[in-house]
Amino acid sequence: MRKTVHPATWAAHAGGAKDQQSSGVVPPIQPATTFLRDTDYALENQSNMYQRPHSETVRHVEKVIAHLEGAEDSLLFPSGMAAVSASLRWVPNGGRIVLQQGIYWGTTKWIRDFCARRSIDLIEVDATDLAALAEGCGGKADAVFLETPSNPLLNVIDIAGAAEVAHAAGAILIVDNTVGTPLLCQPLALGADVVMHSATKAMNGHSDVLGGVLSARDGVAAWEAITLDRADAGAVMGPFEAWLLLRGLRTLPLRVERMCENAMRVATFLEDHPAVEAVLYPGLASHPAHDLASRQMQGGFGGLLSVLVKGGKEDALRVAGRLELFLRATSLGGVESLVEHRYSIESHTGLPENLLRLSIGIESADDLIADLGQALGQ
Ligand SMILES: *Cc1c(COP(=O)(O)O)cnc(C)c1O
Repeated sequence: MRKTVHPATWAAHAGGAKDQQSSGVVPPIQPATTFLRDTDYALENQSNMYQRPHSETVRHVEKVIAHLEGAEDSLLFPSGMAAVSASLRWVPNGGRIVLQQGIYWGTTKWIRDFCARRSIDLIEVDATDLAALAEGCGGKADAVFLETPSNPLLNVIDIAGAAEVAHAAGAILIVDNTVGTPLLCQPLALGADVVMHSATKAMNGHSDVLGGVLSARDGVAAWEAITLDRADAGAVMGPFEAWLLLRGLRTLPLRVERMCENAMRVATFLEDHPAVEAVLYPGLASHPAHDLASRQMQGGFGGLLSVLVKGGKEDALRVAGRLELFLRATSLGGVESLVEHRYSIESHTGLPENLLRLSIGIESADDLIADLGQALGQ
């Protein structure tokens, strides 16, 4: 399949895959863990010896994602956190990592533990302020890790500006693009070196596969170590999960389009509602980084938003409890809309008590708005 086709075409056709043996229009799953050698003990297929490093199903999905991301290469992992940890495990003892404040809690927690164990200098900064980011790098760092738009605060970081700052300090820039998706934001084109996704979220989109992916531009020095570590340490995705992920990816552009459209309508409705204190969504003109988000993202602002309900924790919980259509569950990026009171899960991280995070799905926006309206009290 020609690589010049639009992302929607590339995704729908799964990168032009079909089964060579059966002529089936979808790619096969190859579950074999080991592969044959001939009578001279040479591999019958030079690409395949043992599944840990060699899965054709996984390789195919990586090829599809790399193209969507504008990357030289992609690597799948069995979860988003396996991808986050792989993106930084090469940093030497005594090195320095600069981390954006207020991002996905699982990432912050793992990086803090990792750095403490390995005597790595960890500097956490407000990355919306590039001067603070530069100060955090302190002239020399190994890696800068950002998440934009961030979960659940929806902060937007200037990726091109951050790349300049990181590179000036000799660091690579890693961007968690889970909320942005490869369709709405392309961090590598903006100067980032490695992009990370929890494929559990919008990429798979059906709340039924756990996965993660890293993608890199050409010539990133750490990429070889990351690739080797995955094969040797063995944090690999199985062929069944990879195959399911590919099925999800085929509708990614369609789902993202609908989620963005729905999220924009829901955010606009909530912003005008008298029981709402504020809505955090980069698509709204009231968002502090709306202009930056408009430049840095194409085709929409994603399906994630947070709403501060007027009052306190009890008021937010009452609204969450009254919702009938939004499912009360963690995670994001699925076809079904979810609501989460993050404070109940991570009260120690300084999140507002009255914050509800909404992951907007592909339902009818009218139904979502009606549900929020009755829950907030009209
Ligand atoms: C969910 C998530 C992760 C972690 O991914 P898992 O697949 O749950 O391991 C990392 N970053 C962001 C922004 C996420 O939403």
